[in-house]
Amino acid sequence: SNPRWLLLAGLLISAVLTAAIWRLLTSEATAVTASLHDGLTGLHNRRFLEASLKREEHRARRSETKVAIVQFDLDLFKKVNDTFGHAAGDEVLRCVSEVLRVATRGDDIVCRYGGEEFTLILPGASLANAEARAIKIGKHIAKLKMSLAGQALPSITLSGGVAVFPEDGDTLEEVLRRADHALLRAKREGRARILIARPDDPTTSQIG
Ligand code: GH3
Ligand code: MG
Ligand code: MG
Repeated sequence: SNPRWLLLAGLLISAVLTAAIWRLLTSEATAVTASLHDGLTGLHNRRFLEASLKREEHRARRSETKVAIVQFDLDLFKKVNDTFGHAAGDEVLRCVSEVLRVATRGDDIVCRYGGEEFTLILPGASLANAEARAIKIGKHIAKLKMSLAGQALPSITLSGGVAVFPEDGDTLEEVLRRADHALLRAKREGRARILIARPDDPTTSQIG
């Protein structure tokens, strides 16, 4: 009956609703970020990678462009954990991730594939271009000076495999398997190197 009370009640209800919607939106945004990023390194995670493979494959088919994939794996990383502790290992992963983040730009996608393995998706990159970039990243990482709580940590190398869509596979998923197999060869050949996929690299996952 009193218009002032009515106005006050209306304002109050609006304020409560605005606050509720705001909280909902921000918690939703936080959840989405957490579901697509890796907690330790802040890089994209495997789930994001899988969605990206499909998306970038479609885009590349439509625009008839290449997409290069680089698979990285840190060399003898277990030794860092065993010698300096898990926290030191975590710090190395964060430092390596920072190099990867800085080295990528534009449409590039960098993901923590798992453990001490990382994947780069480089839309528009040729095999030679991707290889050159992988080598540069490897050199940069080998020169990293890392420390934890005042204690110097050892330098680390990585191995990598490179493959490109559409030459190395009918799908980007297949191309990733080829890059993974080239990485396996890099390990076998002595680590600390980047190898390019060969036609005889299998496109299936190697287990064991
Ligand atoms: P290789 O050169 O053959 O790749 O040897 P490697 O020691 O790097 O490979 P291996 O697969 O034997 O060991 C990987 C190690 O990575 C084992 C695991 O404990 C460690 N690791 C995986 N995820 C994390 C993590 O989030 N933090 C830390 N600190 N270690 C991790
Ligand atoms: Mg590994
Ligand atoms: Mg390793």
